[in-house]
Amino acid sequence: MDTWIRKLTASPEDEDIYIQAAQIICRGGLVAFPTETVYGLGADGMSEDAAGKIYAAKGRPSDNPLILHIADREGLDRIADKVTEKAEKLMQSFWPGPLTLIFEKKKEVPYCVTGGLETVAVRMPSHPAARELIRKSQTAIAAPSANVSGRPSPTRAEHVIEDMAGRIDMLIDGGSVGIGLESTIVDMTVDPPMLLRPGYVTVPMLEQVVGELQMDPSLMEEAAPDVKPKAPGMKYRHYAPKAELTIVEGELAEAAEEIARLAEEKRRQGYRTGIIATEETRRFYHEEDVRVIGTRQDEETIARHLFAVLREFDELGTQYIFSEAFSQQDLGQAIMNRLIKAAGHQIIRL
Ligand code: AMP
Ligand code: MG
Repeated sequence: MDTWIRKLTASPEDEDIYIQAAQIICRGGLVAFPTETVYGLGADGMSEDAAGKIYAAKGRPSDNPLILHIADREGLDRIADKVTEKAEKLMQSFWPGPLTLIFEKKKEVPYCVTGGLETVAVRMPSHPAARELIRKSQTAIAAPSANVSGRPSPTRAEHVIEDMAGRIDMLIDGGSVGIGLESTIVDMTVDPPMLLRPGYVTVPMLEQVVGELQMDPSLMEEAAPDVKPKAPGMKYRHYAPKAELTIVEGELAEAAEEIARLAEEKRRQGYRTGIIATEETRRFYHEEDVRVIGTRQDEETIARHLFAVLREFDELGTQYIFSEAFSQQDLGQAIMNRLIKAAGHQIIRL
């Protein structure tokens, strides 16, 4: 299959791109498109056949359900039941935006989308391209991240091309995304609502609107490896670079020295090494190894670059990556959640 790549230009010509893309969705095809979190791989979420193609294209296990993307409130009423007062408040505050809510599903939603569950995950994205595509397609678009299962999520069109060229009908190239981490997921079928996946919308932000939240037990640091996450996708080794990634946690200068030492040791053994550093710590390391993902003064920069840096090390053929740790507060919770998964839980605590 040839993948048709069209670049948005913020001109009236974009209209044609959306029309063509919506036609592909309506015919049951696959279109990758930018959202404010990461690139999504979209199909008609109300069609069993169309949504089924997503699993094949990504190599995604069929028990890992998809998020349905809607453009307006009517879209929600067609797919979700029992929308609570608390859910209304969260939607008021954070939609459109990077927050996914879990509801009981209506019978029209195919089980292939929900991985056989009676619940459905719904998000209203804020990215104008995502919104326009959904509006023109006049359906709920099922869209997981547009990467091959297990690889870091795509934050640029080039990442989607690396993983999906030849497997999908079309890619809408909207440049780099703004946030860079997948949406926050909150289960609204329980009370208090339960955080299933941390993201850009943080726990304090959510609690300010609906009061106390529960945490999925698998998110707890001390969780045993056999605690099964409620979001089926969270159990898979995710976001993984090809290299072995180790996180070193401790006081900043001390951690940096240890990372420099570990990297030097591997380098002397003849391995290709990489270091994930921040503006504050780059001076501790060998120039050629280091990728600066952002500044600790602004965690949004770190979130935005994390997946791209993991992919960059893949391109370079890096065999061992060492990363500094980040605070688990606010956005740091989401950053560390993805980093720890990418490291397969390999953490050195000083
Ligand atoms: P992705 O779209 O690749 O970011 O993955 C979607 C995430 O949402 C996965 O971790 C899924 O397991 C989770 N998810 C989707 N639907 C449900 C649901 N009904 N209940 C719990 N988790 C869900
Ligand atoms: Mg994903």
